[in-house]
Amino acid sequence: MSTLRGAKRVIQDLKRHGYEAFIVGGAVRDYVLRQPLTDVDITTNAKPFQVAKLFKTKPTGLKYGTVTVFMGTETYEVTTYRIDGEYVDGRHPENVTYSESVMEDVMRRDFTINGLLMTESDEIIDHVEGRKDIERKLIRTIGNPLDRFNEDALRIMRAFYFQSKLGFQIDRDTRDAIAQMKDRLKDVSMERILVEMIKTLQGKYLKMAFQSMITTGVSKVLPGLHQGIEYTLSLDELPFVDVFFTLAFTLNGSVPSEWTFSNKHRHRYEIASALARDNKEIDAMMLYTYGIDLCLLANRVTYMLNRSKNRKTEIEALYQNLPIQSDLDLKLRATEIIKLANRKAGAWIKDIQTKMVIEVINRRLENNREALIEFVKTNLE
Ligand code: ATP
Ligand code: MG
Repeated sequence: MSTLRGAKRVIQDLKRHGYEAFIVGGAVRDYVLRQPLTDVDITTNAKPFQVAKLFKTKPTGLKYGTVTVFMGTETYEVTTYRIDGEYVDGRHPENVTYSESVMEDVMRRDFTINGLLMTESDEIIDHVEGRKDIERKLIRTIGNPLDRFNEDALRIMRAFYFQSKLGFQIDRDTRDAIAQMKDRLKDVSMERILVEMIKTLQGKYLKMAFQSMITTGVSKVLPGLHQGIEYTLSLDELPFVDVFFTLAFTLNGSVPSEWTFSNKHRHRYEIASALARDNKEIDAMMLYTYGIDLCLLANRVTYMLNRSKNRKTEIEALYQNLPIQSDLDLKLRATEIIKLANRKAGAWIKDIQTKMVIEVINRRLENNREALIEFVKTNLE
């Protein structure tokens, strides 16, 4: 958490020790737009070790000249003025060079709307016509867009993120450069792309961003998302992150291996999109096997695709009424099955338990001791 008030205290302390410091980036942009601030970043000519002498700090990004300053209960990212070196592999700048000039620090930033500075007395300093672009609602790179996307193609994704968040247009030259440079996204790590994609999916103006991704051809560079992006444009309601990915991968036919989802999320999208593709009515056995979340996700997606009606309430009730949630709920323990069968433990136990589960879930067998004992006896012959 960080606030403007706290950031101003950090700036005052830095200035008292003879350094320059400004609030920079998203916080100034959102302040001008009277939008709620996320985090407040500070840029200064003080070097990280000098910042560390004045505050309680943690070295969060020393390679890039960033330290986190603790001020009361709040934290601030304080970064030394810098000029970025080459972005090798479109990852992070290979090396950063500190600068003595705030002007140079502003010029390395991505878009004019993110290049504003603010002093501790609320004065806005604008070296890049960022204010004008905020007024015109324009996303425009600082400097030549081809050069800037060439340095770091992730900025392409960031343009869409800001469009989705703010509802601004992307300036014509910037948009043309995106269309021209889109294949460079292949050099950017998928982790970084995914971060911006997820942020984009949470924006109020997602459809504008999706439209731009299509016009510039970027939708086709994002593995497996093109059809999902096109389809989303026809929807009245915006999909949540998980719903969007599941929808896209349902239409695509698979979850592309390039995406660096966590195992949990990859599993989620794989199962839910496979269920949605099969488009079978969710039944008790599917709920038992995959759980309520994945089944509801699949239902939501087939419904959005007009392939099924919305069976949410029905599915929830079906889940509530499952006779068992797991084979541990069977009223006959494995040890008792072994005794009854008079055989050594082995894979056969799992087999018979699975049979019991199927019968119980389908309500052809009651989950009570007597019925299950009877079932074991007849099924062991
Ligand atoms: P948000 O509201 O999402 O926090 P933000 O503008 O603060 O938006 P951050 O990702 O927090 O965005 O980055 C902070 C600032 O760092 C940006 O405003 C921009 O000036 C600069 N920046 C971030 N990423 C890049 C990049 N890839 N290239 C150039 N400048 C960047
Ligand atoms: Mg930020």
